[in-house]
Amino acid sequence: MSGRLYVVATPIGNLEDMTYRAVRVLREADVIACEDTRQTRKLLDHYGIRAPAVSYHEHNETERAGELAARLVAGAVVALVSDAGTPLVSDPGYRLVRAAIENGIPVEPVPGASAALAALAASGLPTDAFHFGGFLPSKPGARARALRALAEEPATLIFYEAPHRILETLEAIEQTLGTRPVVLARELTKLHEEFLRGTAAEIRGQLAARDALKGEITVLIGKATGPPPDDTPLDAAVHALVRAGTPRMAAIKEVARRRGLSKREVYDRLLREG
Ligand code: SAM
Repeated sequence: MSGRLYVVATPIGNLEDMTYRAVRVLREADVIACEDTRQTRKLLDHYGIRAPAVSYHEHNETERAGELAARLVAGAVVALVSDAGTPLVSDPGYRLVRAAIENGIPVEPVPGASAALAALAASGLPTDAFHFGGFLPSKPGARARALRALAEEPATLIFYEAPHRILETLEAIEQTLGTRPVVLARELTKLHEEFLRGTAAEIRGQLAARDALKGEITVLIGKATGPPPDDTPLDAAVHALVRAGTPRMAAIKEVARRRGLSKREVYDRLLREG
């Protein structure tokens, strides 16, 4: 008998989001590969699932993928789950799926919850095209570069983010992408589920009145509707026009128009930035 790998989605908070098929597949599996066996055991106990669980996480992925592939080749039915949601979506599993395919083992998805799609569906942002970017880099420079690289993507952008980084990320969105519609989808499917909507700056304002933000957050950004904001320093933008022959006052007026600022603001900032 040939083995089979099932990639099984589990709930992202609300246990009722487990599918009938996921319960059956996990019950019938010879082994369940999971990120954190203790975490998954709670879910398995809830559904009376007794199949043995082995750990499969980012630190033992390479070694475990080989071991599990050998069991699949020997005929075992393996079910892969992650702590929450759909495995492989910002979660381990890629190596195991590749190993199964390379060994001619059928791989079957058992679809269910995923925070990215749940957040998108209820965000109110366009869903015709979307770009899922996983987690943004944690270093400010790399994060800004990653956002800038997506500035002209004609799609709703979706990212996962840790609560302790959310204010920095909103600031980076404001600086790199300007005033686009942003949605924070927090604690989806759980008791304290909420959606915060506005520009990045407006949401930062809403959060300023609160204690530290907790829980799980998915960030969505509406697609570009106009040209990306010009982040050339003001003096360089004015100089470029002057070099091209525009009188200085006219150059200030033009830069003000392009940036949506008043002439006075540009003038004052040029003086301040000296
Ligand atoms: N594989 C999972 C999935 O399909 O959704 C995602 C795993 S990733 C390691 C965890 C991140 O997903 C969290 O940091 C958060 O950004 C997002 N997330 C997970 N559950 C969520 C929820 N209930 N509400 C909002 N975002 C959630």
